[in-house]
Amino acid sequence: MKVAIDGPAGSGKSTLAHALAERLDLTMLDTGAMYRSVTLACLEGSVDLQDDEAVTEVARRVRIEFQTAEDGSQRVILDGRDVSEAIRTAEVDADVSRVSAIPAVREAMVEEQRRLAATGDVVAEGRDIGTVVFPDAEVKVFLTADPEARAHRRALQRNVEDPEEEQVILADLKRRDEADSTRETAPLVAAEDAYRMDTSGMTIEEEVQKIAALVEDAKAPVPSVANDHDEREGERESAPAEVAKATVHDSSAEKPKPAAKKATAGKDASNEDKPTGRMRVFAHHEPDEFYDTAERDFPITSRALLGATIGVCGILSKVLWHWTLEGGEKLWKAKGGQVVVMNHESMLDPVIIVVSGWMHGRRMRPISKSELSDNKIARWFFARVGAIPVERGTADIKAVRRAQRALQRGEDIVIFPEGTRIHSDDQEVTIHGGFALMAQLAKAPVLPIAIVGARDGAPGGNKPLCPGRVYMKVGDPLTFDQIHEKSRKKRAKEMERLAMERVYELRDELRAEHPGKM
Ligand code: C5P
Repeated sequence: MKVAIDGPAGSGKSTLAHALAERLDLTMLDTGAMYRSVTLACLEGSVDLQDDEAVTEVARRVRIEFQTAEDGSQRVILDGRDVSEAIRTAEVDADVSRVSAIPAVREAMVEEQRRLAATGDVVAEGRDIGTVVFPDAEVKVFLTADPEARAHRRALQRNVEDPEEEQVILADLKRRDEADSTRETAPLVAAEDAYRMDTSGMTIEEEVQKIAALVEDAKAPVPSVANDHDEREGERESAPAEVAKATVHDSSAEKPKPAAKKATAGKDASNEDKPTGRMRVFAHHEPDEFYDTAERDFPITSRALLGATIGVCGILSKVLWHWTLEGGEKLWKAKGGQVVVMNHESMLDPVIIVVSGWMHGRRMRPISKSELSDNKIARWFFARVGAIPVERGTADIKAVRRAQRALQRGEDIVIFPEGTRIHSDDQEVTIHGGFALMAQLAKAPVLPIAIVGARDGAPGGNKPLCPGRVYMKVGDPLTFDQIHEKSRKKRAKEMERLAMERVYELRDELRAEHPGKM
């Protein structure tokens, strides 16, 4: 397990990495301390910092080690000498960015960092961990915080009380951020698949809980699947910590899970995150349990609620909007476990597609945006009607894994990659690509479906419902076999593009077939 934490100076990387290392039994690797150590060695040896070769020679020669002191703190040992304090002076601050910008120095450090991490589970912090040092890290985090908050934190760490001195620290942070972000080799940038977290107003406990949950999710083994999906078993990939910007329509949200169970590498973690099996009727169930359980295993009371909801929605929506689904057999006749992607016009879309699936025996789980998290009743209700919440615009790995497991159990998922209802063709649309990742992890086909007419039928806001007709059309399933890109990321990107292109083509076909429908 590798956890990569990157971010600018003073964003709280060390504190977070330290706490995570303790909580999750990981080894901490402070890569900033290594660049600082090289800088210190140069300063002490009066090496000209403008002389790249001389500095590189120092970087290659010095021996940097980390030791844990009795009080649990990490000590930095440079050529056998404890330099933990000496590397955190204003002099080193002033020069370290110059040293760390030298490509050959970085090469030497990265090689050493990989060597130090080779023996176990590591949480590494720095500027290029997720992008260069461990691009395959299971969890990547990019921390940010406003400069004043960072300077204040640094001042506290260094027992600086004088406000003027704090201003000097602030200026230095800004200067280093600028240098670190604009250098040519391995600049400070967030990895594409990093989870971004602004720590300005967060407590360390909140930060640790959030990242510990991501780590646990990344560790979670894929649960066993129903018999009719056995052939997918052998093909599963380990779950990377990918950015999941999947979003969709209204629904519930989840509470963060209580502190994750510890599962160190090498230990059997197979009891974790298994499907919960059939849920009991007379028991208290948290929303999380519904998200992680097949609908068929919900308690009978919840299934009755689901059935009644579907029944009422089905009758009402059919009477009011006479909806039809052209090519529906591509959905019902296919094996369960498809990623259904649709354009999003109104709140009718999820209702109609779930109802039409239900009528043909399909259990379709809408992936829904978590905005209703504050609303207890909505959370209670949406959990019981099968929705799986996702935090939009974040690396919601938990939601991705839940969707993956639902797919592997043979449940379809329905997702609206536009993320929000599109009320007019002029509205700007951002496609959230989490669905492609879900499909990729579960080896599931992506089924494009378009809907028209729902925008007029249920315009939203204070506008009244308006009876009319709603049409839907199903395209051919798309699979990753059709995509020839090599890298996993590019394959997902291409799937995202293809699927949405197809959704819009289907929508255009429907509009041509039913003039006046938008
Ligand atoms: O994290 P810290 O502030 O101790 O890092 C000191 C300096 O080391 C940074 O300003 C940056 O120039 C350099 N550094 C780097 N790459 C890393 C870690 C630190 O360039 N992975």
